Amino acid sequence: MSGKADPRPAGEGTTSRTRLDRGRGALGPALELVHTGRAPTRAVLTAELGVTRATAGAVAAELEALGLIRVDARPGAAAGSQGRPSHRLSVAEDGPVALAAQVHADGFRAALVGLGGRTVATTPGCEAVDADPAKVLGSVVAAGAELLRETGRRCVGAGLAVPSAVAEPEGLALNPLHLAWPAGAPVREIFAEQVRAAGLPGPAFAANDVNLAALAEHRHGAGRGSRDLLCVATGHRGVGGALVLDGRLHSGSSGLALEVGHLAVNPEGRPCHCGSRGCLDVEADPLALLTAAGRAPGPEMSLLKQADDLIRGQYDDPAVRTATETLIDRLGLGLAGLVNILNPDRIILGGLHRTLLEADPDRLRAVVADRSLWGRSGGVPILACTLEHNSLVGAAELAWQPVLDDPLAALA
Ligand SMILES: [Zn+2]
Repeated sequence: MSGKADPRPAGEGTTSRTRLDRGRGALGPALELVHTGRAPTRAVLTAELGVTRATAGAVAAELEALGLIRVDARPGAAAGSQGRPSHRLSVAEDGPVALAAQVHADGFRAALVGLGGRTVATTPGCEAVDADPAKVLGSVVAAGAELLRETGRRCVGAGLAVPSAVAEPEGLALNPLHLAWPAGAPVREIFAEQVRAAGLPGPAFAANDVNLAALAEHRHGAGRGSRDLLCVATGHRGVGGALVLDGRLHSGSSGLALEVGHLAVNPEGRPCHCGSRGCLDVEADPLALLTAAGRAPGPEMSLLKQADDLIRGQYDDPAVRTATETLIDRLGLGLAGLVNILNPDRIILGGLHRTLLEADPDRLRAVVADRSLWGRSGGVPILACTLEHNSLVGAAELAWQPVLDDPLAALA
């Protein structure tokens, strides 16, 4: 809580004020516990917050009054942590939502995402991205605004996922190379302008798509319970990485940490747009797989889907199998380097990397183990991302964060 001086005379209302302050300070942590599924009952909430049952009850009631959670009033309906009946807690099914937007090399999509990472509505993916960021972001915000009108939901804010490093504090998309956007485009400001122009309330945020995928998976998916979570994923093009430390995204001093796409994994490999050659970005993404398998990329669907379909549907084809193994080896080499530097307790893989893992998990784990420090870090679990549209869910997390930090202030 803040250290502001209290204007009231000493002694006046101290006890009730202290209880109120403590309760208010617990609102955010309590909401985060319900949001991330770690407090399914009021008994667990009480234990996790370390407060009295009365305080936990007041906090849950306040969150329910704000329309954020539901408290099952029938105490017999669910068992508590010690087998005692306890009120069941869940996010409100009809509560507010965040507007989430994602732009990638093969299109864009908008969604409404409630607490708990629950996607309430999505637009179909659109498949053309204009070279002018304002046009694309205007279209995606308009699509999101239409979803809000259709559903009648209250909006807490908006978040945008982009396939580029986003420099902070300005919110500049530094390298949107697969989008034909100008390098350094002020995407957060452009997005915020479009959100305001559409008459939508709340703040607007923007961040790198793989960072957001990692945040979403940590809170709601394959990363739950991890302390040092490394996420590596292909977007539709290129390769990104992210690290979640103690529940917070580690984005570095200016938002540019974990640009793992430019680790060299093939010294004789193809030239990369960064100026080097053989980078993970160009050696282990969907286009690299199609090329290695001798397939010409078709224009009819996204490269990610084409590469995914090839592995899932034609793995018996020797050329496809060899190409898949080649990419697994390159990915494993990159992961081993990252594991040796970062010492994560879990690795999660998204996009095409998830498909590579599922195609031959033993091979990938063996490559990482072979090259890890003293064979020790080879034991780190490597799992597939589990959330559908995890970058969109992560974009919504940005918009939810002020509510999670201070529900009363954010919804006032
Ligand atoms: Zn590179």
